[in-house]
Amino acid sequence: MIIGVTGGIGSGKSTVASRLGKLLSALVLNADDICRELLEPGGEGYTRFVRSGGERFLDGGGAIDRRRLREEMFRNAALKELLESILHPLVFKKITETAEQNPQTAIIAEVPLLFESGRYQLFDIVISVFSPRERVLERVVERDKVCPEAVLEIIAAQMPPEEKNRRADYVIENGFDLQETEKQLAALAAKLRQRISG
Ligand code: ATP
Repeated sequence: MIIGVTGGIGSGKSTVASRLGKLLSALVLNADDICRELLEPGGEGYTRFVRSGGERFLDGGGAIDRRRLREEMFRNAALKELLESILHPLVFKKITETAEQNPQTAIIAEVPLLFESGRYQLFDIVISVFSPRERVLERVVERDKVCPEAVLEIIAAQMPPEEKNRRADYVIENGFDLQETEKQLAALAAKLRQRISG
């Protein structure tokens, strides 16, 4: 069974995916980590991106300057589309292969762009992690040492969290303390165990 965890920036996706992973003894994958690996020199994504015009993002050592790429992607829709057209199929292939190789284990995949990618059919269950905007701002500013304006700019470019909640099978309300989130996760894990064994 493949369980997708999605949500906006700083909503608590990693927190929820790792804690739920422990409760379900699941394998936890992270789409951002997979992308990072794919874009390392020699990786499948690296080769395709460099061949499709990505050479200008190579640093002196031949690696992709991910920071420069991320910054330009934010302002260049064609570049974002190119990169996503290369990476999304490879990310979903990796998730599917991992599930096939581990048929007895639940897979939890943290995928920020789960709905935007149009591949949500791949997931048996989708969980949206929600935190109110003011909590997201506090937490991301603290975690990443960035200014609130930078976070607001990213939030404005993302699918509204309420839309993700509406489309998901389950919503975790992560605007409170971690104890409260743990409580919700314990209840959700009990339901999911039934679905996994049934
Ligand atoms: P990103 O979109 O940047 O990948 P994310 O959605 O994976 O972020 P997390 O990294 O899990 O979000 O959480 C963002 C920050 O908020 C982290 O520093 C995390 O420790 C903290 N955090 C998450 N949930 C809570 C909570 N319920 N109470 C307090 N802090 C929390």
